[in-house]
Amino acid sequence: MRSPADFDRRRALARMGSLVLLLGSHQLAHGAAIVAVRIWPARAYTRVTIESDQALVARHQVIEAPHRLVVDIDGLELREPLRALVGKVRADDPYIAGVRVGQYQPRVVRLVFDLRQPTEPQQFTLAPVAAYQHRLVFDLYPVKEADPLLALLRDKEAAEASASQAVQDALGELIARIEQPQVAAVPPVAMAASAAAAASGAAAMAPMAQASAPPLVALAPPPPASQVFSTPSPPPPPPPLTAAERRRVDRLVIVAIDPGHGGEDPGAIGPTGLREKDVVLAIALQLRDRLNALPGLRVMMTRDGDYFVPLNERVRKARRVQADLFISIHADAFYRREARGASVYALSTRGASSTAASWMARRENSSDQVGGVNVAGVKDRQLLSAMLDMSTTAQIKDSLKLGREVLTKVGRVGRLHKRQVEQAGFAVLKAPDIPSILVETAFISNPEEEAKLRDPAFRRELVDAIASGVRSYFAKNPPLARQRPL
Ligand SMILES: [Zn+2]
Repeated sequence: MRSPADFDRRRALARMGSLVLLLGSHQLAHGAAIVAVRIWPARAYTRVTIESDQALVARHQVIEAPHRLVVDIDGLELREPLRALVGKVRADDPYIAGVRVGQYQPRVVRLVFDLRQPTEPQQFTLAPVAAYQHRLVFDLYPVKEADPLLALLRDKEAAEASASQAVQDALGELIARIEQPQVAAVPPVAMAASAAAAASGAAAMAPMAQASAPPLVALAPPPPASQVFSTPSPPPPPPPLTAAERRRVDRLVIVAIDPGHGGEDPGAIGPTGLREKDVVLAIALQLRDRLNALPGLRVMMTRDGDYFVPLNERVRKARRVQADLFISIHADAFYRREARGASVYALSTRGASSTAASWMARRENSSDQVGGVNVAGVKDRQLLSAMLDMSTTAQIKDSLKLGREVLTKVGRVGRLHKRQVEQAGFAVLKAPDIPSILVETAFISNPEEEAKLRDPAFRRELVDAIASGVRSYFAKNPPLARQRPL
C-alpha cells in the first residue's frame, strides 16, 4: 500500500527529473567534486581513472605530431585533486610522458596527455560500485598489439634464465637470438627528465587558468622532440624462424599464470591491510621464475604489474599463445573470518560442488565490476561466452587431474580448506581447450593466514608446491606438440 505522501514524493521526484533534463549535463555536473585520480601504467595499456561524486561528461581527441590526447571535462572547476594528476605520471609509463591540466573554459577543464607512442584511447564511465563512486576512465592501448608469443620468446628474464642451461636447452639459443636486438633499453634518466619536463610544463600553465584562455593545445609549445621521443625507435623485427626453430617453438610447453585482480580491483584486503592483488602478484612472479627454470617450459603472465585485466581478457591471452595450462592465483577473504587453508578450484558447468565454492565463484566473477570493464567490449564478451559454453567436459576432466596434483603438494606445505578439488562457474577458468585451475593460496581475512602470506618463507614453500604439482601433472599427462601461430 502506498500512502498519499508517497505519491506526493513521487510526483515531486518526477518534476525534479524533468527539471534535470531541461538543465542539461552542464549544470548537472556543475559542482562535481573530484574524489581521486589514478594512473595505472602497464605494458598492455595505461589506465587513467578520474573518480568523482557525480557522473562526469567528457570528450577526447587524439592529436598527432607530437602525439597527444586532449580531454575536456564539462562542469568542472580546476581544483586540487585533479591537479594531482600531473604528479602521478610514472617515469616508466609506456604510454604517457606527461600531463598538463588547465581551466579551458569557465566550466570546462582540459587535460593534455603527452604520449610516448601512438595510442588508441578508449573512454568510458563506470557507475558507483564497491568502494568506488563515479569513475571516468581512459584506457590507452597501443595502436598495434604486440604478438604475445614473440613477446614471450623475447622476454629478457626468460632468456637469462635459459642461458645458464643452454647446453641442454636448445630453446635458449633461439631466445638469445631473437633477444639480440632488444638489448637497448630506454635510459631511465632520460625518461625521468622527460616526465619532469612535462610536469614543469603543466606548472607553467597555471597562469593561463582564466576564463578567456585559448585552448591549451595551441598555447603550450610541445617539448623538444629529443624529450618527447626519448624512447628509441623499436628494434627491427627478428628474422623469420627456420623450420628447425619452428619445431622447437611448437614443442615449447606454455603455462599461463594468472595473478588475480590488479589495478582498480584490489581483491580482498587483510585485517592489517595486505592487499590480495599485491600478494598474488608476488607469488605468481616467483612461480614464473620457478617454472621458467624448467627446460622447454615458458610462462606467460596474464598480468605482470599492478593493472586491471578483465576476466575474459585473461582467458584470451592464454588462448592466443595456446597455453598448455592455466593457473589463477588468489588469496581471498571469506565470509567466515576463522576460515583457513588452501583450496583448489576447477570449472563446473552444472552447479557448484558446495555453497562455499559457489560463493567464491560469485565473488571472483565480480572482479570485472570492481576493476572496471569497458562495456563497448560487451559484444566480444557475449561471443566469447557463447563459444566457451560449447565444449568443456574434456577440459574439466584435465583440470581436475591438474587440481588434484597441485592440491596434494600444497597440502604438504600447510593445511587445506577442503581435501578435494572444488568446482563452480569461475569465469576465468572457461578456456574450453586449456586445463585451468584457480588456487586460493590462503584466506587473507584470517589474521594468521594474512601473516603467513606476508612471510617470504611460506610463499617460497607454496610456490615450490604448486610448481611440483605442475611437474607431476606433466609427467603423467605429457603435452602434445602443437602448431602455434607465430
Ligand atoms: Zn581473488
